[in-house]
Amino acid sequence: MNTFDVLIVGGGTGGIMTAAQIRRKLPNLSVAVFEPSEDHWYQPAWTLVGAGTFSMAATKRKTANYMPKGATWIKERIGSLHPEHNQVTTEGGTAYGYRYLILSPGLIYDMSLLPGLAEALETPEVCSNYIDPEKTWEVLKNFKGGNAVFTQPTTPIKCGGAPQKIMYLAEHYFRKHEVREKTNVVFAAPGGVIFGVKEFAKTLNHIIASRSIIFKPFYAPIRIDSAAKTITFRYNTAMAGNDCLAQKNVTLHEEVLGDTEIVMPYDMLHLAPPQTAPKFIQESPLAVAEGANKGWLEVDIHTLNHPTFLNVYGIGDSAALPTAKTGAAIRKQAPVVVEHIRAAEAHTTSPLRYEGYSSCPLVTGYGKMLLAEFKYDNVRDSDPLISTFVDTTKESWLMWILKKYGLPYLYWNQMLRGKM
Ligand code: FAD
Repeated sequence: MNTFDVLIVGGGTGGIMTAAQIRRKLPNLSVAVFEPSEDHWYQPAWTLVGAGTFSMAATKRKTANYMPKGATWIKERIGSLHPEHNQVTTEGGTAYGYRYLILSPGLIYDMSLLPGLAEALETPEVCSNYIDPEKTWEVLKNFKGGNAVFTQPTTPIKCGGAPQKIMYLAEHYFRKHEVREKTNVVFAAPGGVIFGVKEFAKTLNHIIASRSIIFKPFYAPIRIDSAAKTITFRYNTAMAGNDCLAQKNVTLHEEVLGDTEIVMPYDMLHLAPPQTAPKFIQESPLAVAEGANKGWLEVDIHTLNHPTFLNVYGIGDSAALPTAKTGAAIRKQAPVVVEHIRAAEAHTTSPLRYEGYSSCPLVTGYGKMLLAEFKYDNVRDSDPLISTFVDTTKESWLMWILKKYGLPYLYWNQMLRGKM
């Protein structure tokens, strides 16, 4: 059986960043990365692709060009985990051993959790930046007015801000192309607030009001009927009172079904699909066994270490961490894992902790963005350097430039190279 000092499962954002940092800081350790895909995607730019302001081709590069020198690339999928034996097994049945295991296989989309979604995505009005951002752009360009509905599922999702970012961009696009006056732009979401961190929510609420966007809180999507072009929401009356349909001067033609369901017709629909941890994580002894995080990878929220199998670490989208699932979060997670492995090699411990940092570049229109940075408990955690010259709670053109040019550059040239 082949054995490595460090095995990394997943060569996406988290896997490559961590492998690169280990090669730089712990060059004596042998490292292998399991990654089946020849291509590596810069997903944060898909928001801009969906709005026709970034090329999809520019978000894709060859994995081979980013696999760190000295790391062994194993182009196979992991099928099962056996932490009690310090082993993983590929889907083809080959076992590999490790001294340390780092899991960063991302998440999967589970269409079955929203009946009608798979069929709806085949129709010309329904799109998702998570699945095919180029189709979103086609849908926006072809939209002729009516109800433009934007929503998200009740499961955790990666980049929780992405479903509303495309909504702001679409609203701006409709204004520029004279369909806005014939359009109801609706953002319907299961939660009660537009954004969890109050400093940024204040600006977003102002934007929503000033652009006549219809925000529907406590709307959880439960099924789509693409033949009828309707989406049904379970509405949490206990949370929101009973005036959910009342909107001044607006007719959405919503229909109430029973006590808790609302059927909304759409002329275009954008949504994030329901998301879960990959099956091999869910079925492993490393997953959270019960409760709201059931099935996601269990880790200590500060050390990113599995609580039972102490040589196993988890980062990125698959980890059960109470913060937003983003590449920006991984930038702060990877050094913690590398430092704890360094300490373990030196038979000591490290005080370095992950405090839940994550960031959401909230694009609010073409040429406009707020940079929401925060940590656990929705506490604002803005970069002190950026904050000296930009108020990141306000819409800014400079932050848009950062999103469109700066962050992609830093991602490919610094983060994936293990330099930041
Ligand atoms: P991924 O990068 O998805 O990588 C997982 C890798 O694991 C994949 O390459 C996959 O092939 C591999 N894998 C899966 N299963 C197996 C297996 N069984 N065996 C071996 N390998 C496997 N983040 C931001 O920071 N800012 C943003 O503005 C932002 N916007 C976003 C907008 C959209 C529309 C989307 C979709 C995402 C956005 N994100 C954003 C989120 C960000 O892209 C993810 O959080 C990040 O890529 C997660 O990294 P990861 O390593 O956990 O997973």
